[in-house]
Amino acid sequence: MKKILHSIKLIEESCIGCTDCIKRCPTEAIRVRNGKAKINDEVCIDCGMCVRVCRSHAKKTVTDSLEMIKGFKFTVALPAPSLYAQFKKIRDVNLILTAVKKIGFDDVFEVSKAAEFVTAATRKIISEGNLKKPVISSACPAVIKLITMRFPSLIDNILPVISPMELAAIFVKKYLVKNKGLKYSDIGVFFISPCAAKRTNTINPLGIQKSAVDGVIGISDVYMAILDKATKIKQEDVEILTSSTSRGINWALIGGESSTLGVDNAISVDGMENVIEILENLENGQIHDVEFIEALACIGGCVGGPLTLENSFFAKNILKKTQRYTAMSEADRFRKFDFDIDESDYKFCKPIEEVNFLELDDDLSVALKKLQMMNDIYQKLPMIDCGSCGAPTCRALAEDVVRGSANIEDCIFMLRQQVKNLAKSMVELTSKMPQTIKGEEHNANSFEGE
Ligand code: SF4
Ligand code: SF4
Repeated sequence: MKKILHSIKLIEESCIGCTDCIKRCPTEAIRVRNGKAKINDEVCIDCGMCVRVCRSHAKKTVTDSLEMIKGFKFTVALPAPSLYAQFKKIRDVNLILTAVKKIGFDDVFEVSKAAEFVTAATRKIISEGNLKKPVISSACPAVIKLITMRFPSLIDNILPVISPMELAAIFVKKYLVKNKGLKYSDIGVFFISPCAAKRTNTINPLGIQKSAVDGVIGISDVYMAILDKATKIKQEDVEILTSSTSRGINWALIGGESSTLGVDNAISVDGMENVIEILENLENGQIHDVEFIEALACIGGCVGGPLTLENSFFAKNILKKTQRYTAMSEADRFRKFDFDIDESDYKFCKPIEEVNFLELDDDLSVALKKLQMMNDIYQKLPMIDCGSCGAPTCRALAEDVVRGSANIEDCIFMLRQQVKNLAKSMVELTSKMPQTIKGEEHNANSFEGE
């Protein structure tokens, strides 16, 4: 079986088996067994929901370390626009980018600049009229993976365009090879990320063969170092490093992508539970006349990612102020790039495939029998989805029983019923004891009493 690499891991000693996380996982990837949570790697989409809900901090995100940049001759940081929303008192993006460069990179390129290009490419592709409507944004890897698992009928609706992070990495490498004569393999490009799903997506990319991003570093891991540098930089030492407008920065917020598309009927949905509801409605034919759906797993958009530090509601306010500052900045505060990108650079070159984790067996007739068994077991369960068995729902427990990873007695209601039945049988058996044994019992008791 193919090894699946993830960016979410369990710290087993911290897990108290409370079951809080199992019900919030959108793909039912978690079970609690023997008092500890277990993640099914085949089903996890790295959405980070379990990291947020665990009060014991037993779930952690895995990202790359800043140390990794030492393995390359020339390194470039690609900050996500949500980075700007972490600094309450800094409005000047050039100051933040100068500080990012000073923590060890040779250069910086904003992902928001690539986002502006993705908007233009999306507008062009939609206007060609060949896409299945509504088109679903491909920006959030957790949502795309969710579609491949729970809503495969919507795979054809996914916008076949790579993410701004990926496009930024491709552009930077092409630019440095062409304009600075650098060797492709000497260039290391690192995304400064608000979420762990991006890291998983660089390891197992969707829609492309190989990611151009060499590492994904969490915003929370480098925030203090950037802040420290930013507070020490003199005004005259601030470099002109920004190239993006406030429209590109807006991608950090829900609605940021769709608002600049120029599409009349676009909807924006954030938060995994809301995304699931909209996708269910779409699958059931309850959504009409919508041309574009922007769907992001985190509340508020990428500013609500699990690797950010600022509360997403405050972050939105900070970002709005930064956007106003950027919009009012003089032209000489911007760096100019000839964004040399072809259609072959930004379009998917590989189909997105369905992940069939629901299959109970490779043999269809066996799978159907197992499905019948699963339904029979489910009918016996109390159907209250209490979670005390360690599975998120009664249906999930029934499936686990059929797959051989749980027992029906894991359900406390079934166990109680079995104990009751056993006690009743024992009473009945006692009354049915042969007279000879009853006599012996009587004699033994009399003997003991003497
Ligand atoms: S929320 Fe999940 S990972 Fe955290 S302590 Fe409870 S069972 Fe363990
Ligand atoms: S990261 Fe998301 S999909 Fe993966 S186990 Fe946690 S809640 Fe489930």
